[in-house]
Amino acid sequence: RAKQEGRGIACFFDQQMDEQMRERRALEYDLRQALSRGEFYLAFQPLVSTAFSAVVGYEALLRWSHPDRGDVPPEVFIPIAEDVGVILPIGEWVLREACSIAARWPDYLSIAVNVSAVQFRVGNLASVVDAALRDSGLNPKRLELEMTESVLLRNRSATIAILHDLKARGVNIVMDDFGTGYSSLSNLRSFPFDKIKIDRSFVSSVADDGAARSIIRAIVGLGRSLNMPVVAEGVETDEQRQMVLEEGCRQAQGYLFGMPAPVGAELAAQLRLSGGGSGN
Ligand code: C2E
Ligand code: MG
Ligand code: MG
Ligand code: MG
Repeated sequence: RAKQEGRGIACFFDQQMDEQMRERRALEYDLRQALSRGEFYLAFQPLVSTAFSAVVGYEALLRWSHPDRGDVPPEVFIPIAEDVGVILPIGEWVLREACSIAARWPDYLSIAVNVSAVQFRVGNLASVVDAALRDSGLNPKRLELEMTESVLLRNRSATIAILHDLKARGVNIVMDDFGTGYSSLSNLRSFPFDKIKIDRSFVSSVADDGAARSIIRAIVGLGRSLNMPVVAEGVETDEQRQMVLEEGCRQAQGYLFGMPAPVGAELAAQLRLSGGGSGN
């Protein structure tokens, strides 16, 4: 009888796995068509100077509007796109779209684009960036490429070479979600980052967790010694803004300042609010 029950459970798990596999295959299939069907769009979230809350730029965040499922979160579809390789054409589309939209904004606004580790490993990233810059006419100094620590784990010297290639064009390189990956603090030193973004998990607990605050302080200190300004992401309350400002984060991003939104009325209103000043 025990054996029978065991078999029942195994069968239940088999069914669940089966279903997950089918779900995953379906998403894969749809993802391969999504680009040509025009199902992607970009949402833009403001990046502000922490002291004055003035908008200094935007981060482009990819959105997939699935015909039946509605918006599929990037945390779900990006890993799949990376697995099956379609992140390469998708990533190229994001770069081109973000650059051509930002080229119409005032000059002082930066545009941040997330780049997958796969684009570093497989893609001819520098020439893809070149083409996006050339065709949009965007000043390379306005472009920030965000990458996560996973990029640092493989092909260290090849990665450093690509980063220097990009920097030679004037493009800025940002370490995203810092503190969550596997790279050591000293690892940062070998890479020519222009900026470090602290992961929002530290920011969200900064008000009631002394350890989170110490970590932010340590990262800002490290950034200072490496000449890399630090950005706080995921700022949702004024208390958090105040604290990351006190700890020396010069820029911040989060729902407190603005939700990611498609280019449209809201963004136009934000741009008018920031008044076309120097942005700092
Ligand atoms: P990320 O680059 O760290 O982007 C920040 C994420 O935090 C965004 O989630 C944003 O909506 C969210 N966020 C911003 N402010 C707040 C806040 O105050 N509170 C909370 N709880 N969340 C906040 P999103 O848009 O779902 O993107 C998730 C991740 O997907 C991104 O994290 C990035 O790693 C990846 N991603 C997005 N677009 C692209 C892309 O075009 N290419 C690649 N390779 N990855 C992308
Ligand atoms: Mg990012
Ligand atoms: Mg981030
Ligand atoms: Mg993130």
